[in-house]
Amino acid sequence: MNDATALPSLFVSHGAPTLALADSPTGRFLDALGPVLPRPAAILVASAHMDAPRPLLNGNAAPATLHDFGGFPRELYALRYPAPGAPALAARAAALLHDAGFDAATDATAPIDHGVWVPLLRMYPAADIPVVALSVSPARDATWHYALGTALAPLRAEGVLVIGSGGFVHNLGALQWQAGDQPTAAWASGFADWMERHVVTGDAAAAQAWRSQAPQPLSAHPTPEHLLPLFVAWGAAGGRGRRLHAAWELGTLALHAFRFDGAA
Ligand code: ZN
Repeated sequence: MNDATALPSLFVSHGAPTLALADSPTGRFLDALGPVLPRPAAILVASAHMDAPRPLLNGNAAPATLHDFGGFPRELYALRYPAPGAPALAARAAALLHDAGFDAATDATAPIDHGVWVPLLRMYPAADIPVVALSVSPARDATWHYALGTALAPLRAEGVLVIGSGGFVHNLGALQWQAGDQPTAAWASGFADWMERHVVTGDAAAAQAWRSQAPQPLSAHPTPEHLLPLFVAWGAAGGRGRRLHAAWELGTLALHAFRFDGAA
């Protein structure tokens, strides 16, 4: 869509849950990102950590904070993100998805997972903007998730900030705990470069073919759920993406972020 009053859509990488508290380049990036965007009326987040066979929208009016991770410092489990939900927005999004042929449903009792609340805690720490979470469906491909985003595009002109929360390169079995903030594996940087090139040139069709065309796709994403939110965010605006942030942690984890403003 091309509407100057519409909000952008965003893809953010949420990394490890320690992002919520740690002083890191990506944490500082997210701290600065919220204040520079027009204030949204509500936020819709497609999260890598909410998977469902069909599109599921969290319509809980007061979603609990889910600590869906293990082995991290105790203070992370004490964090809450008490933003209100937005049942009317969940219903509106479900209706848009139905109109586009998706078998969407809402859930009035679900909590919000850390893919939703960790980035929002950095971007909007006051937790005073209503939030709706959307699932991804790992059995479906990138093209399906792009179309899911496209169906939600009208929300951007209604004051809704659409965010895809995942990971740009995400292979937890290949983390290098002694490594730092630069890519240490050629497959990781090769995949990131390939995907970024397609995002910033607006070649969504090529990017959607990542599993057959990208270099070493199954090293970068052994399972697709952390990449699929990129396509939801991209589809919600179309056009070219702009890279807002690039960072590496543990040698192979890419925490890049992109903004989509729609076709020029
Ligand atoms: Zn994650």
